[in-house]
Parts: sequence; C-alpha cells; structure tokens
Amino acid sequence: MALPRRHPYKIKMNFEITLPDWAISELEKLPTHIPKLEDRMREVIRFSRLNIEHETGGPFAAGVFEKESGRVVVIGVNRVVPANCSSAHAEIVTLSLAQKILGTWDLGGPDMPEYQFIVNGQPCAMCFGSIPWSGVRDVIVACSGEDVETLTGFDEGPVHPEWVAELEKRGISVTEGVLREEASSVFRDYASSGALVYNGRSGD
Ligand SMILES: [Zn+2]
Repeated sequence: MALPRRHPYKIKMNFEITLPDWAISELEKLPTHIPKLEDRMREVIRFSRLNIEHETGGPFAAGVFEKESGRVVVIGVNRVVPANCSSAHAEIVTLSLAQKILGTWDLGGPDMPEYQFIVNGQPCAMCFGSIPWSGVRDVIVACSGEDVETLTGFDEGPVHPEWVAELEKRGISVTEGVLREEASSVFRDYASSGALVYNGRSGD
C-alpha cells in the first residue's frame, strides 16, 4: 500500500490495541480469583481458542494473575492482523493491559503481590525480551516454541537458547509444559483451518 506524498500527521498520531468485545464479556464472567494453576492455564487456552473461533487474531492468549491468590488481572489475546500491528502478540497486549489496569509500568514494583504470567505458547524472541522489562516474577508456559513452530508454521525468531536460565538469572521462575496437550490442540486446529500464518514479510 503506497503512502500519499505526505501523510497528514496531524490527523492521527497514536495507536491503540483493544481486546475484542467477546473477550471483554468473557473477562467479566470470570471468577475474580482462580486458585489452581491448571485452571488459570485452562482459561488462557480457552481464550486462545475463542480468538480463532471469533476470527479476532492468531491462536495465542496470555494472562496475568496474582500468583498467590489467583486473582485475575487480565487475559489478553493476539491482535496482530485485526490491529495491523506486528507487535500485538498476546504477551505484549496482556502485559500492557495489566500495567494499564494496575496503573504501573513495573509489575514487580515494591509493595506489590507477585505477578504470574501465563502463556499458551513459549514467547517468541520479541515477547521473551518483554518479560524482564515487565516486572513479572513467574512465567508459566504450555507448549514449547518447537511445538508452536511445528504445529503452526509461526516463526518464533531468534529466541535465546538459554532463555529459561536467562530469565531465572533475573529472578523470574519458569515452568513449562502445563496443559501442553490442550494447548497443542488449539494450534493444530488453527493450522488445519487454513487460517493465516502471518510471519514478517509473509514468511519470505
Ligand atoms: Zn511474541
């Protein structure tokens, strides 16, 4: 798509990512607290499936919870294609919304409960980088990056080979493989639906 000779910058120089309406009503229906880890992951996976069923983004979802109490802060979903925004991965959307909801750029700030970040697939290179910046102290992953790449064809990018150790060095604990099979089935269904796999430069 070609730009006009000069874009009228005065008209709109902001960007926003919003959750789809269905996600907002699902969030309103959730209990305020989800005590068990598997149940938190199950909700994140359910959102990833709903995101493809509603055709509102890719098969990815993420959630921020208070680790001890299970209080739900937010569950967000991938919005890359509908928002025309390559960085609108579920992780970036969710961490950004959690920070907005909690009124802080640092989810690991003083006098705050420990925040847990739950994702249905291993964070890509960009999202891996976003985790230490976010302040979360605990990361829970369902599928591995290899699972995601094999099942869907999405390219995870140059993730650090020691990504878990790198996060743990920074005081962030990582647990992998939680409800991996349930998460895999969403990726499998996404791939077999023939839906768009939108790697940069459309996979060139
Ligand atoms: Zn990502």
